[in-house]
Amino acid sequence: MTQTKHSTSSTAVYGSEEMVRPAPTMTIPEDMTTPEIAYRMVKDETYAQTQPRLNLATFVTTYMDEYATKLMNEAIAMNFIDQTEYPRVAVMAARCINILANLWHTPERGDSKAGATAIGSSEACMLAGVSHWLRWRKRRQKEGKDATRPNLVISTGMQVVWEKFAQLWQVELRQVPLTRQKRTLSAEDAVAMCDENTICVVAIAGVTWTGLNDDVEALDRVLGEYNERTGYDIPIHVDAASGGFILPFVSPETRWDFRLRGVASISTSGHKFGLVYPGLGWVVWRDKALLPDEMSFSVNYLGAEVTQVGLNFSRPAAQILGQYYNFIRLGREGYRQVQQNSMEIARYCHKRIGAMECFENYSADVVNPLFVWCLSDEWQRSAKWTLYDLQSSLQQSGWMVPAYTLPASIEDIVVMRIVVRQGMSRDMADMLLGDIERSVKELDALKYPTSSRQAYDDKAKQLGKVFTH
Ligand SMILES: *Cc1c(COP(=O)(O)O)cnc(C)c1O
Repeated sequence: MTQTKHSTSSTAVYGSEEMVRPAPTMTIPEDMTTPEIAYRMVKDETYAQTQPRLNLATFVTTYMDEYATKLMNEAIAMNFIDQTEYPRVAVMAARCINILANLWHTPERGDSKAGATAIGSSEACMLAGVSHWLRWRKRRQKEGKDATRPNLVISTGMQVVWEKFAQLWQVELRQVPLTRQKRTLSAEDAVAMCDENTICVVAIAGVTWTGLNDDVEALDRVLGEYNERTGYDIPIHVDAASGGFILPFVSPETRWDFRLRGVASISTSGHKFGLVYPGLGWVVWRDKALLPDEMSFSVNYLGAEVTQVGLNFSRPAAQILGQYYNFIRLGREGYRQVQQNSMEIARYCHKRIGAMECFENYSADVVNPLFVWCLSDEWQRSAKWTLYDLQSSLQQSGWMVPAYTLPASIEDIVVMRIVVRQGMSRDMADMLLGDIERSVKELDALKYPTSSRQAYDDKAKQLGKVFTH
């Protein structure tokens, strides 16, 4: 470069020096950049990514209506923790907790239910886990027993947050294997892993890997009998990241929530089927007695007593406005219609995909608006491609449809998953299905196996078997 040109407000964005220089990666730039140029540099960096609406891998909201978006944008500068300045946000959060507690049939009377706002289900699960660990520890100490070796029982279909919880709080994770026969948590197998050191059993409503639901009612029965027999008091936490906003609307008769006596806490993601942009989660306890006092921190902050349950201190307020807006705007009937449509589109895709010769659905029914499928036995044996190749091929049309292996003990099954969220129309589903059919036709016409297929065959040869279902 011959000389340094200083960009001014009249410099054309793409005539500026910044646009021909590498972007900052290690150190803060010495000088300023005009806002237009800075905006373009950051914005342009995002273009190569998947369009959020075509990202069928995520559970997280990628569409909200204009009023919700306006409301949240207007609140972008508000910090939830500043309760003196924004007292109404705290009130709205408490209302959301009450609404969820009632939606999940809390037996708790009184006009404020025990719960907390979180950044997502991860924080919500952590809070629930900590509450059960503290409660267990207190009881053990009172009985003069060893309280140093807590464990938690959950299926291998758990989301990674439970591994984090176990690592960070040093709680032993006892995982009940999922198998081809037992595709969700087996209540008997779970209880067989329990002992006096079990802080809780976690059931999952909307297993991330498969879209299925653990049978919480069966677990409640079997664990209830076990508690009675042993004198233990092991509670159930339901990780309802997806199911918490699906079951009450599409399957209100299913008993998975506080209607079951053993369910002590429930967590969900407001930013999944709660239909709010990320990040928002909720956790609700059956009653205040289950939320240990040590978890409520009262601080005198900016001139007011703030009582908070949470891992983080500051957090955005906009998501809470978005959630409360959704409750008002949609009501029970609106949520039912939106979730029902997502279910219908998921079932439609499930049927069409299951009807293709090369595929086989992992399960016969769709109980949440997501499902997984795998290659049919014939294609598994003789195709020149794998689902990873199909994933890459679909990516070329802009779709993100992930392929992955199922968890331990069924990790030889490669599946592909679609999550249908608000914003996916029948027309979009037809476009996707058309792209899948086109991709399959191309892949089926291959003369030689793809590298991913070769790797698969090598592994099968090594183990001396062909993986079929
Ligand atoms: C998504 C998910 C989580 C983590 O939730 P975030 O909202 O992403 O923090 C935990 N458990 C299950 C079952 C999930 O599906």
